[in-house]
Amino acid sequence: MIRIVLCGIAGRMGQEVVAAARDASDIAIVAGVERPEYVIPDGKICGVPVAADLSSVLDQGDCLIDFTASAATIANLKTNQAFRRPCVIGTTGFTAEEMATVTQASESFAIVLAPNMAPGVNLLYDLAARTAAALPGYDVEIVETHHRAKKDAPSGTALALVKTLQGVRPELRTSHGRTGETGARAAADLGVHAVRGGDVVGEHRVLFLGKGEIIELRHWATSRRCFAEGALAAARFVSGKRSGLFTMQHVLKG
Ligand code: NAD
Repeated sequence: MIRIVLCGIAGRMGQEVVAAARDASDIAIVAGVERPEYVIPDGKICGVPVAADLSSVLDQGDCLIDFTASAATIANLKTNQAFRRPCVIGTTGFTAEEMATVTQASESFAIVLAPNMAPGVNLLYDLAARTAAALPGYDVEIVETHHRAKKDAPSGTALALVKTLQGVRPELRTSHGRTGETGARAAADLGVHAVRGGDVVGEHRVLFLGKGEIIELRHWATSRRCFAEGALAAARFVSGKRSGLFTMQHVLKG
């Protein structure tokens, strides 16, 4: 049994991870961590004991799963320096400085960091790279759509797609939105567009536009369950590992 401490347990993803873990025979959420205002009088959310202070519960777990906000995740990694539990980080929106902190922390304990834990999205990265390599002269644009409460843009997944595409076509330079006299599109443009509204869980489209044809690769998360299942798979993968920074590609390859 893998014992999980879940940071952000009251959030949309936290709740989905609790639901997915209930259906898994090898994983138990033994403690949650939340902001003090969420820690209700009986100290439980969905039957799981919840603390406001990660350091008070971390020794109960074999692995930490974090779906909070970037500043909270960075604080959690600092707390974990004393415990060195393997971590699964689903949180997105890290600055370059915060990313450097994550990378440094992975020298002390193992981390799976993935802006999108859905197995299908991780196939999308591969398909996008293969399509970019096969159609080098095509214009490439990314369009992502998320619910109105999403705090960062472009999505972490869109940024991962940009990195993947630039790995194949290093000349590509991102541009966000177009207005006014833009002039003709440059061949090196990589348009990245964020649509926000409603309750859309997450949709990513990668468009390859050529002369007389368009190829569109699309991933559509119909519920958060795909991310939660990916997070549990990442927890199984990282548990027992001592150090290193891993992605969902590592998890899916086993
Ligand atoms: P949310 O706002 O619904 O939940 C975040 C939770 O974290 C909240 O309950 C909040 O109270 C808690 N939290 C914030 N700061 C905290 C702190 N300092 N201490 C303890 N708890 C704290 O957000 P969400 O939709 O669940 O998304 C959370 C993060 O996960 C976001 O960064 C989002 O982009 C990302 N996300 C990643 C994936 C993925 O597959 N990797 C999928 C969906 C969302």
